[in-house]
This record gives sequence, structure tokens and C-alpha cells, in this order.
Amino acid sequence: MKAIRVEQFGDPGVLRLAEVPVPRPAAGQVLVRLRAAGVNPVETYIRSGNYARKPELPYTPGSDGAGTVEAVGEQVAEFKPGDRVYTAGTLSGSYAEFALCQVPQVHLLPERVSFAQGAALGVPYATAHRALLRRGEAAPGETVLVHGASGGVGIAAVQLARAQGMQVWGTAGTERGRLLVLEQGAHRVFDHGARDYLEQIRLAAGKHGVDVILEMVANRNLANDLTLLALHGRVVVIGSRGNVEINPRDIMSREADIRGMVLFNTPPGELAEIHAQLFTGLSDGTLHPVIAEEYPLVKAPYAHGAVMDSGAAGKIVLIP
Ligand code: NAP
Repeated sequence: MKAIRVEQFGDPGVLRLAEVPVPRPAAGQVLVRLRAAGVNPVETYIRSGNYARKPELPYTPGSDGAGTVEAVGEQVAEFKPGDRVYTAGTLSGSYAEFALCQVPQVHLLPERVSFAQGAALGVPYATAHRALLRRGEAAPGETVLVHGASGGVGIAAVQLARAQGMQVWGTAGTERGRLLVLEQGAHRVFDHGARDYLEQIRLAAGKHGVDVILEMVANRNLANDLTLLALHGRVVVIGSRGNVEINPRDIMSREADIRGMVLFNTPPGELAEIHAQLFTGLSDGTLHPVIAEEYPLVKAPYAHGAVMDSGAAGKIVLIP
């Protein structure tokens, strides 16, 4: 099969298309024929070699994909060949024509959801779900600011928060992104590139403030986030690419919480519950991943550049 292989850590050019054997599913494993693979920022950090968790070289990147079950190993009763599925984690990598998975990494994909959309679920939707509901403890009626709402996680968070009956605000850096954030259910949208956008949010939030902020770029925004929060407000740090200085008094006066989250820490039972709830939302149409761009597998280096660029408008996927 064709797969992207990384022989050494480095810039996007180390992502090379290669021919490798199709893996065989052992007991408890599922082989998925992938029709799309999701590109997440974390895969660029891993590829660069600067991430805490490093795979053994050579490796095929990617955890998210969607397609059909090709074969199952012994003791697999959950799936059969032909089932439409998405992957949230793999054993062999998802930037490939086939991916080997353990049963808990595979989830049924409702008919109404395309394979490209299915490849946008594993990391982004599970992250948004856990950040919003478990770590952020956002409740219906509360105001949720998705700080960085135009990307994979942000769009998912907007859809989830809207479906839960929250007052949803989002930010994006481009007109296209802001339009998309509104279309996906946000009540209000702000331009995180505008000089006065924090004032606009403060004005909109009034005396009460914002109950929950989902933060994609904490190194840029955390100090300001704390000044926007309501009494007992929560900031969930989902993404950060550097250090930041904060004023602890902003937390004290609001009895506010800064909560970190990493999808990798999700206990297996909670992860199963998240994917069961995603299936319901995907089936009834409240959740519908937005695809920004599709590229052939060979363009993985370009896709890694694109996912780190500003101007997000949904999810970038690779088509094997
Ligand atoms: P993405 O699709 O590339 O989206 C990035 C988002 O950040 C876009 O909405 C972008 O908006 C926004 N952004 C850029 N500059 C910003 C600023 N100054 N203030 C606020 N937002 C800004 O990436 P993603 O997949 O959604 O992931 C978002 C972040 O979460 C990444 O850092 C990723 O590594 C992290 N993440 C963490 C976990 C976890 O487990 N903790 C899981 C998944 C992702 P514009 O392009 O419109 O400017």
C-alpha cells in the first residue's frame, strides 16, 4: 500500500510517499481501508522532533481517518468487513491507504457523514467535547467563548456548545473564518486580529463576563482571557505554543479556574462515552464537520504547512 513515511524528524519535506506492506489484523484488531485522513497540528509537532512523545522511526503519521472495514482479527465481534467507520487512533498511522487499529479506536460512521468528514472527528471533536463539557463544565445558558473557532477543534466546539444550549461566541482571523463560525452556530463572532476585539467582547459580556473560554493559543491570550471571565469562570487551555505572563489577581478576584486539557489523558471509559455521544450528534445532524481543503496523500508536506498557517476554515484532510 501507499503510505507517508517519516525516516527522520525535521521539516515537512521529511514526509515521503512510500510503498509498504498492508498490515494484517491480529486478534482484537481491525484493518480499515482509508478514504480520508485528518491532519492535526500535533502531527507537525511530532514530525519536527520537538514534541514530548516521539514515535520510533520510521513511522507513518496520523491518528484520524475514515473508510470501510477491510478485515478483522479473531475475537472481533464489533465490526465486519464493509462497515463504514472512522478511526480515533491507529497502530500503524492514518496517512496511508490502510490503517491497523485496536477495536476501541474504531467507531461506526453514520451514513449521512462523508469519509472526509469522518476524518475530522477523532482528535478535533473528542478534544472539543472533553474541553467544553468535562474540563470546562459548561452548562446550558452559560456564555462560552471559543478563542480560535475557525479550525478543526473550534468548529467542533461551536457546534457542540450550540447543541447544548449555550450562548456561543467565537473568534477567527479572516472574514471567511468568521462567516463560517457564524454559520456553524455561534451567536456572535469577533476578529482576534482586530486591535479592539477584547473591548468588543467585554462590551458584549457586560458586568457578568464570560463563563467559559476554550483557548487555542494560550501563550497569546491567557492573560487577557482572565480579565474577560465571570465570577467562577473557567479557561480551558487546549493549545499553547510558548510562555505567557498572567496577573494572578485576575484569578483571585473572580475565583476563576485555569484548567489544562490533553486528549491523551482521557480515560478509556470517558473516551467511549464521548464517541457514543458524537455518534448521536452526527446521526441527527447537529454535528457536521466542515472540510476546508482536501489534498492527495503525496501532498502531505504541503498540508503540514497549511495546518500551521493562519486563515483556518475547518479541517484539512488527505485523500489516499
Ligand atoms: P487549526 O485547525 O489549525 O486551527 C487553529 C485555530 O487557532 C484557528 O481557528 C485560528 O484562527 C486560531 N488562531 C490563530 N491565531 C489566534 C489567536 N491569536 N487567538 C485565538 N485563536 C487564534 O488547529 P486545531 O486542530 O483546531 O487545534 C487548535 C490548537 O489546539 C492547536 O494548537 C492544537 O495543537 C491544539 N490541540 C490540542 C489538543 C489537546 O489535547 N490539548 C487537541 C487538539 C488540538 P485563524 O486561522 O482564523 O486566525
